[in-house]
Amino acid sequence: MAATADSVKKLVGLGATVVVESGAGLGSAVTDEAYRSAGAEVVPDAAAALAGADVVLKVRRPLRAGEGELDELSLIPRGATLIGILEPYDDAESLAAYAAGGIESFALELVPRITRAQSMDVLSSQANLAGYRAVLEAASVFGRAFPMMMTAAGTVPPARVLVMGAGVAGLQAIATARRLGAVVSATDVRPAAKEQVQSLGASFVAVEDEEFKAAETAGGYAKEMSAEYRAKQAALIAETVKKQDIVICTALIPGRKAPVLVDEAMVRSMKPGSVIVDLAAERGGNCALTRPGEVIEDQGVTIVGHRNVPGRIATDASALYARNLVAFLTPLVDKDSKGLKVDGTDAIVTATRLTSGGRVVHPGFGGSAE
Ligand code: NAD
Repeated sequence: MAATADSVKKLVGLGATVVVESGAGLGSAVTDEAYRSAGAEVVPDAAAALAGADVVLKVRRPLRAGEGELDELSLIPRGATLIGILEPYDDAESLAAYAAGGIESFALELVPRITRAQSMDVLSSQANLAGYRAVLEAASVFGRAFPMMMTAAGTVPPARVLVMGAGVAGLQAIATARRLGAVVSATDVRPAAKEQVQSLGASFVAVEDEEFKAAETAGGYAKEMSAEYRAKQAALIAETVKKQDIVICTALIPGRKAPVLVDEAMVRSMKPGSVIVDLAAERGGNCALTRPGEVIEDQGVTIVGHRNVPGRIATDASALYARNLVAFLTPLVDKDSKGLKVDGTDAIVTATRLTSGGRVVHPGFGGSAE
């Protein structure tokens, strides 16, 4: 959900009139009454909420005609500013529709990772929760305990957990698995991850060659690795995976399909009862056998491929997302007129703005600033 009672109060404080669709907050435990008390007007449906809007705050991109029950896009008024996780990659159709509809669109997941933008960083706020939740998903289907237990009836060994990808989600998964008492190791292709993994009490597993030492972009993201590196990495991972009880996959490369790190043979090498939770499922999966949106069992190994894992911890996901939105919107609002005043030269604006003035303007998606 894109607003909580708390964020409505802040938006009202910015001078906005806030309109919420009835029932929209129920999945995140926010009632219509709570929105009303915070100062929002609650209207019966999406069409009423969108009518006359200057700014539209959404979680995901609006659906186009034929995609769902409602053609949300056609309900957004011309000239309105749309802010959300718009997933512009490989979606030229939506971009063209925003441009044609005269919509000023901003993709929140493109917020640059600079200090000033940390409070707007939706990838971090959601990945952190997803990493935590992934471990709980694993624990709930794993037929054994995580911590070592020494009991009168005998000793229960600790679970062995491997976390693949030690970004925001992976580091939280490591911390959560450690809190539950597991023996944790983790892998990443960015050298900076090594110290972070070790500082959480996990061991670091990676092929640390020359390519690895240079494998981080200026923005702090992973680069796509060479075929040679991936082969060496796969051999090391194969050896590691077969000793694990739980594998938590979080490896992503912005704008690309997720790298496949756990192949069919690796899954088959795992002990029956083992669990793989693939947070990369929506982007194709880090495990070759993952079925996005499904939990499957393959020769005794459970592979959890839930989509939208932050949505499985919806109240906190909404609370943090709503705060990210307020933080993003605040500098776009003119303090005197209370209207929008977008500074087209600001680094956060140029990094996130997809369409403006009827055109695609983002250079990463075929647009140009002029
Ligand atoms: P992400 O979600 O894009 O990817 C998750 C992890 O997968 C990354 O650590 C990546 O290196 C790793 N990965 C990619 N390919 C891999 C492979 N083949 N094998 C193993 N691991 C692989 O990453 P993220 O969580 O968004 O974090 C990316 C970086 O941005 C991190 O350095 C993070 O600390 C940094 N960050 C900075 C800020 C800030 O400065 N404001 C905020 C958040 C994150």
